Amino acid sequence: MTNETMLKTLKTYFGYTQFRPLQEEIISAILDKKDTLVLMPTGGGKSICFQLPALMTEGTAIVISPLISLMKDQVEALQANGIPAYALNSANDETTNLQLKQECLHGKVKLLYISPERLLSEINFLLRDIRISLFAVDEAHCISQWGHDFRPEYTQLKSLRKFFPDVPIVALTATADKITREDIVRQLEMKEPKIFISSFDRPNLSLEVKRGFQQKEKIRAISLFILRHRDESGIVYCMTRKGTEKVAGLLQKEGFKVAVYHAGMSNEAREKAQNDFINDRVQIVCATVAFGMGIDKSNVRWVIHYNLPKSIESFYQEIGRAGRDGLPSETLLFYSFSDIILLTQFANESNQQEINMEKLNRMQQYAETDICRRRILLNYFGETMDHDCGNCDVCRNPPERFDGTIIVQKALSAIMRTDQNVGMNVLIDILKGFSTQEVLEKGYHNLKTFAAGRDVPTHDWRDYLLQMLNLGYFEVAYNENNHLKITEAGRKVLFGHEKAQLVVIKKEERIKKTTEKKKKTSPLTLTESTLFSDTSRDEQLFEELRLLRKKLADQQAIPPYIILSDKTLRQLCERKPISLDEFGEISGIGEFKKARYGNDFTQAIRMFLEKK
Ligand code: ADP
Ligand code: ZN
Repeated sequence: MTNETMLKTLKTYFGYTQFRPLQEEIISAILDKKDTLVLMPTGGGKSICFQLPALMTEGTAIVISPLISLMKDQVEALQANGIPAYALNSANDETTNLQLKQECLHGKVKLLYISPERLLSEINFLLRDIRISLFAVDEAHCISQWGHDFRPEYTQLKSLRKFFPDVPIVALTATADKITREDIVRQLEMKEPKIFISSFDRPNLSLEVKRGFQQKEKIRAISLFILRHRDESGIVYCMTRKGTEKVAGLLQKEGFKVAVYHAGMSNEAREKAQNDFINDRVQIVCATVAFGMGIDKSNVRWVIHYNLPKSIESFYQEIGRAGRDGLPSETLLFYSFSDIILLTQFANESNQQEINMEKLNRMQQYAETDICRRRILLNYFGETMDHDCGNCDVCRNPPERFDGTIIVQKALSAIMRTDQNVGMNVLIDILKGFSTQEVLEKGYHNLKTFAAGRDVPTHDWRDYLLQMLNLGYFEVAYNENNHLKITEAGRKVLFGHEKAQLVVIKKEERIKKTTEKKKKTSPLTLTESTLFSDTSRDEQLFEELRLLRKKLADQQAIPPYIILSDKTLRQLCERKPISLDEFGEISGIGEFKKARYGNDFTQAIRMFLEKK
């Protein structure tokens, strides 16, 4: 098979003119009937790796997938490109499944999605009677107990090799670690597998961390953030179920359309939240980590972590849900002292205390780093990067340090004078000179250090104290009401033997806050018009095309991004095709979409151009 044929098939069905890194090699290996293991990050373009060979070989490709929602999404996307793909699962009624089997027997189905349980029950029936081009095992890490999504049903896929010795098996996953990888190969009994590991870098995701924000400040920062992403879908991850509800409520008050998603909700309620999000009926989901697997929505434009995640693995997987279409997408992580307290408690109560503490420490290092954040991430996954990324807050705005010895001494001296019997909040009250009930009861208002730090804003104290914690000047006694205990390193600074360097706190957020306050006469949504009055013409066209896309999607009851991706819409706005042929040249538009949507979109563009 020549590369030209492969490229032509890619354009005809998917509308793309180039392969992404490794896709071409992987497809060639599969066409050569080799067993293949594919490791690519979320959004890397795994599906095409088996979909294209399926289209280029005779017979039906069997795709094993763990979740009905994942099957549904891929099947819809394939059908939207005119490809005969179907899912055989319990979501269909049995008549539909019977008809589907007939179609398979007649060789009319190119890709058949199936759950592992179903696959086993069909192994001696349907599968024996149809011509199978290949097996694709999606989310292949589910087979391994080492992975984080182990599914016992997956272990039974072992029998595939025995029953179908000559059909190539392709296993695909976004989970990279070595043990899982080896486990997949062994369990599927892959024969001399070709292994492809692509870079886990997602350069289109920007990275940013904000330290020491409290609820009110976070909500304000999130509102401003979302206003920059008007109408663009995003996820706010929270640590607890209660947290998701609270944050959702606060954002709703600001006028945003928000759904909640966590494991404590009924199946129906969760499904509704997920569908509303996928179909652009709500803009935002506030969710726990339970949300995500099974979401293939390609136009999630941003992900915010309201709390620090428990490990870099979870963090990377969660931010990976943004920007699957490759367009620039933003991520933001908030990180506060109370998160560390809670996560430490969880780690200590878990049955893998040491490992979980180590993971948390690495996460904290990421949040506190003053070198390029992407380097830290990729390094964690065993990849080295030889340059700074330019797309994280550290690269864009390198931290500056100053001699913070006096600030550190004030804090440590206050801790000392309470006999090291206070936690973070009371310490701040003492430093600021707030006569709260606890301060008065314990007589802390009589301490020499009371109000010694009144000139430093409360927010800055939270930030500096987090820095001090990470610099190792004090520790948290988790078993003593989280009281702060001065360390040896802290003593050296306190007694003037060493100096302390702190990071300058950037005032950007504060400035935004005051300007926003002036403008804010009614809910935030009204300030949108002032913030975005200079929307360019391309943005207007984008809005119009987006509405058209939504209308077409609703008519067919499929998600808008399945009709055309955001990336394709962006290109339409840039190139403004007005003939069918020009339309067909846009990336993401294959023959089928050209015929089906060409008229609607070119007409909308023509009308827009005439309006002037
Ligand atoms: P994964 O399964 O690895 O998370 P997908 O297969 O869903 O990723 O692909 C992510 C997005 O990238 C999809 O929108 C897909 O259509 C797009 N894509 C895949 N291959 C290409 C390519 N060669 N050119 C342009 N876009 C591509
Ligand atoms: Zn960087």
